[in-house]
Amino acid sequence: MAKNTTTPPAIIDRIGDGFARIATAMRTEAWTAADVIGLNPTQLQILIFLVGRGKAGMRVKQIAAHLGVSQPTATDSINALTRKGFVEKLADPSDARAVAVAATAEGEAAVRRAGMIASATDAAFASLSTLEQEDLLLHLVKIIRTLQASGAIPEQRMCVNCRYFQPNAYPGSKEPHHCAFVNAPFGQADLRIDCGEYETADASSQAAAWKIFNRGTA
Ligand code: SF4
Repeated sequence: MAKNTTTPPAIIDRIGDGFARIATAMRTEAWTAADVIGLNPTQLQILIFLVGRGKAGMRVKQIAAHLGVSQPTATDSINALTRKGFVEKLADPSDARAVAVAATAEGEAAVRRAGMIASATDAAFASLSTLEQEDLLLHLVKIIRTLQASGAIPEQRMCVNCRYFQPNAYPGSKEPHHCAFVNAPFGQADLRIDCGEYETADASSQAAAWKIFNRGTA
């Protein structure tokens, strides 16, 4: 058998290639899931985002910033979602002159319907062992945090940035972290990437928490 003498691309490139393959599969699935409820993937993404925010809703500008889409794209998508009855416009509780957009009960039901579509990528993630899933989640949190710090993506509502996060409060325990919002310990596998109760911590608290968190995960 001929020997393969070509040098493989750098590991960073191969990791990027791997993510690109997964992203392709997820994009295809997003089209299928969105199609089931008569939406396009951007509209579905906005709807899922709003369902996660509850009844208070969010302003269009915030939605666009969180999802990394332009304001006109967010506005068009929200108009389409409003016509379908999946979202509604309300007075923003923090400013009576402003308008917030929130998911309706029909919108929540539509997201549940879309989520029932079989997903090959979910099945692939589920094929990893519990420990592998936990490791993957941890590495994703680290990558997302770095992307956020460089300004490549907007602030994410992750535990590691949250004012309620107390990392490694119980060293050596299976549930080493503490969430001061629910006043309960939690494990690595429960780290949230998009939490409805998230409140951002100030920069110095985030840096201090990250240092303690990293010490426990290195
Ligand atoms: S409120 Fe949410 S994001 Fe904040 S620490 Fe608790 S679970 Fe994590």
